[in-house]
Amino acid sequence: MKIEKNKVVSMHYVLRDMAGEVVDQSETDGPLSFIQGIGNIIPGLERVLEGKSIGDKFKITITPEDGGYGAIQPELIGKVPRSNFDENENLELGLVFEVNNEQGQYLARVVELDETHVTLDANHPMAGQILNFEIEVVSVRDANLTELAHGHVHPNGESDH
Ligand code: ZN
Repeated sequence: MKIEKNKVVSMHYVLRDMAGEVVDQSETDGPLSFIQGIGNIIPGLERVLEGKSIGDKFKITITPEDGGYGAIQPELIGKVPRSNFDENENLELGLVFEVNNEQGQYLARVVELDETHVTLDANHPMAGQILNFEIEVVSVRDANLTELAHGHVHPNGESDH
């Protein structure tokens, strides 16, 4: 069975940055499962997976602009006064907050701290990065109707949730 829109794909992957450091991989908790063609994964990966089948192994480099997580958007980085945070909040670099405002709900990381201010970055952690993937397709099946309605994979393809 070939990978095409609305197939459930499971794959092992290793993601390396430009320095060759592993930044993410599937191995520890089993393969990643997703529905092809509906934006569960980045466009660059969907594009290269289309037409592949079980057992296919390949490497792919994806740029931020062409199918990756996009360029870093400076407007998503902002400085806020420390007084905006609870005094007991243990602020440290890398801490991730859920932010709610008129633009909706998103995650922001603490990227800089000084005496008076906290700099938050709401870009995707992999924005602006060239992604080097190593992929192995381990299974391909049809998504069931509930999975298609929900837009995500259910463990073992169960139809209830
Ligand atoms: Zn569901």
